[in-house]
Amino acid sequence: MKIPFNIPYLCGKEESYIREALLSRRHCGNHSFAERCIALMQERWDFQSIFLVPSGTAALEMGLLLADIKAGDEVILPSYTFSSTANAIVLRDAKPVFCEIDPATMNMDIAHMESLISEKTRLLLPIDYAGIPAEHDRIQQIASRHGLLVMDDAAQSLGSYYQGKPCGAWGDLAAFSFHETKNITCGEGGALLVNRPDWIQRATFLQEKGTDRSLVLSGVKSKYGWVDKGSSYLLSDLLAAMLLAQLESAEYIMRQRKKVTAAYQELYAPYAKQGCLCIARPPAGSSLNGHAFFVIFDKTDNRELFLAKLREKQVYAYIGYVPLHSSKMGQKLGYKAEDLPITEDLAKRVVRLPMYADLPEQGMQYCLESMEEVLQKIYSS
Ligand SMILES: *Cc1c(COP(=O)(O)O)cnc(C)c1O
Repeated sequence: MKIPFNIPYLCGKEESYIREALLSRRHCGNHSFAERCIALMQERWDFQSIFLVPSGTAALEMGLLLADIKAGDEVILPSYTFSSTANAIVLRDAKPVFCEIDPATMNMDIAHMESLISEKTRLLLPIDYAGIPAEHDRIQQIASRHGLLVMDDAAQSLGSYYQGKPCGAWGDLAAFSFHETKNITCGEGGALLVNRPDWIQRATFLQEKGTDRSLVLSGVKSKYGWVDKGSSYLLSDLLAAMLLAQLESAEYIMRQRKKVTAAYQELYAPYAKQGCLCIARPPAGSSLNGHAFFVIFDKTDNRELFLAKLREKQVYAYIGYVPLHSSKMGQKLGYKAEDLPITEDLAKRVVRLPMYADLPEQGMQYCLESMEEVLQKIYSS
């Protein structure tokens, strides 16, 4: 039996929705399926203003453009994240300032983040790793104390909550991803949440190539023109059709992923108790979307052994992010591996386990037994 790392879920309605979008002959962005996705997300999570964009990466880029991040500005983010989080900053000629992580969550270490604030700092850019909320209450407090903006890279956390408030709703801006590796997918896609009413109109300009086409569509103007910077930050309605089918199944998808999480929890907790490894300890008051499950081994050697032995059984777990500060590009920006020793160490010991909505019905028993066998081999001696 083979257990891949991820299998994108299909709820069954994708095909008929895509066909409907195709035959509508309205295939560009912000048409009826996009409107239905946005309405559903607003209703379900009480989000304010949502822009469907081509990717999570595009949402981050559009967000930093909207926040007017410029050359000379500094943005604080974890080094333990995807390249897109940092690229959005670098593309504005601003400086990414990399922050350590907390092993309990693999999210930004808030005390370290605060120590990195300088007079050049403009924005804080936390991520919600594995769907675990960053400590958004503390981040917001620190941001308002220092007069900083906050954008949440919520690519992994749609459907997670912290203190009763959904991930994405906390900062000035947030980015979601609908990439095929995420809970809800349309292959490639994303969303930008704009939580500041005074920024919404400008966001419609940036999304539509810097034009005020949105004012023509809403009947305010009869002709549109070039009014601002911008790009094409629009998701085709063909992909929005697939996205709608997925969003309608969000509850089921999360329920299935939470079943897997619970089973992993049960298997790994005793090993964590014995000090062989660590599993996530989400902050109090968080409710998770089941995006991912990670394990931090005591030693890199044991991680490598675990991955190799599981691979022999055709169970595919993977390492986490390779830290950005010590990457080739990070070095070009002047960082050294030693700058963030905690991140370096954790990244060498972490593993992400197979996780997808169909797993509870398709091989979960085999997956768990294989892991148990490998863990016993590693830690019995
Ligand atoms: C997936 C992901 C992204 C990028 O999203 P895309 O839709 O693939 O562009 C950015 N940040 C984080 C934390 C992610 O997990």
